Amino acid sequence: MIPYGRQEITDADIEAVVSVLKSDYLTQGPKVPEFEQAVTDYCGAEHGVAVNSGTSALHVACLALGVTGGDIVWTTPITFVASSNCALYCGAKIDFVDIDPLTANMSIAALKTKLQLAAEQKKLPKVVIPVHLCGHSCKMDEIKVLSEQYGFSVIEDACHALGGRYQDSPIGCCRYSDITVFSFHPVKIITTAEGGMAVTNSAGLAGKMMSYRSHGITRDPDKMTHEIDGPWYYQQIDLGYNYRLTDIQAALGISQLSRLDDVVARRHRLADRYNVFLQDLPLLLPYQMPSSFSSFHLYVIRLQVDQIRLSHNEVFDALRHAGIGVNIHYIPVHTQPYYQQYGFRTGDFPEAEKYYEEVITLPLYHHLTEEEQDKVINSLRDIIK
Ligand SMILES: *Cc1c(COP(=O)(O)O)cnc(C)c1O
Repeated sequence: MIPYGRQEITDADIEAVVSVLKSDYLTQGPKVPEFEQAVTDYCGAEHGVAVNSGTSALHVACLALGVTGGDIVWTTPITFVASSNCALYCGAKIDFVDIDPLTANMSIAALKTKLQLAAEQKKLPKVVIPVHLCGHSCKMDEIKVLSEQYGFSVIEDACHALGGRYQDSPIGCCRYSDITVFSFHPVKIITTAEGGMAVTNSAGLAGKMMSYRSHGITRDPDKMTHEIDGPWYYQQIDLGYNYRLTDIQAALGISQLSRLDDVVARRHRLADRYNVFLQDLPLLLPYQMPSSFSSFHLYVIRLQVDQIRLSHNEVFDALRHAGIGVNIHYIPVHTQPYYQQYGFRTGDFPEAEKYYEEVITLPLYHHLTEEEQDKVINSLRDIIK
């Protein structure tokens, strides 16, 4: 089976991990701050807070922005459940903004309409979490303007988007947001096995996120409520978690990050080949905004179902039978059983639901060969012709 995504581990990656295993620190050593520095240097943000998953990064980002019971957080329904669960962890209410069918990212028109209504009803969100689906940036300049007009904070869920760019800047520069969050799960652009990072230009937010990732404990005398008892002393000043990344993982991340531009360039070459060889089929290929340079975490096609003899499910099954590990990104979050208790129903976000019924994610990863890609292309041609 050709998978839809797969990590790549080089000899240099293995050496980097082994050298940490032979060193004094497996965790809380020098590699985590080195990895934070490398990621912030790459994306142009001032502070990085490495954590043990993208999900943890979303959680500490919400906590640092003060999300708590009674607050409202909005995201898109076409995302992984973690983008909205982070609000629920904080006791906040979650709501969704329907997608733009062209990009499948959060619709700016729908966001504007929903904000106007929410302002009248005094139910404005505290935080909005746009997701750069497949690595293709949301229209962040417009979201930034709305955040100033309506007074909400912005967390960019860039779990797909490390290595991508929006207008003239790398995703993660936080020019349009308070915090940007990355994931280093093996299917993502680079990996630390499990891992994530929140980046920000605010020293205050970074300090809070560092505290939340490690029990809410501080060793900084300036942050303590009274003088230290002695050199062993620390204070717990908040309720935090153990969300730390290990030095073993950070070393893998540093090694992987050094190849990031090559990885994204290769993904673009493969995406370009799909674009050429699939263009005559009854499919919508991934739309790219001129102002955006995607990381191409995923290559998602949309079946023009009225022009194809088979159903969405039949095309999916036929591809799997042909040995192509296609997938679907994503099941609209508001239709998940757990979310029904909050009053969400099928029909609430029609563009997202229609998208779900038409999309298929094709294999795309760094060492996918052209021969393997040709197999994907030819199988798809045979199935939907
Ligand atoms: C993968 C992913 C996450 C969660 O990241 P983990 O590292 O798996 O916790 C969050 N949001 C999106 C959009 C993702 O794709």
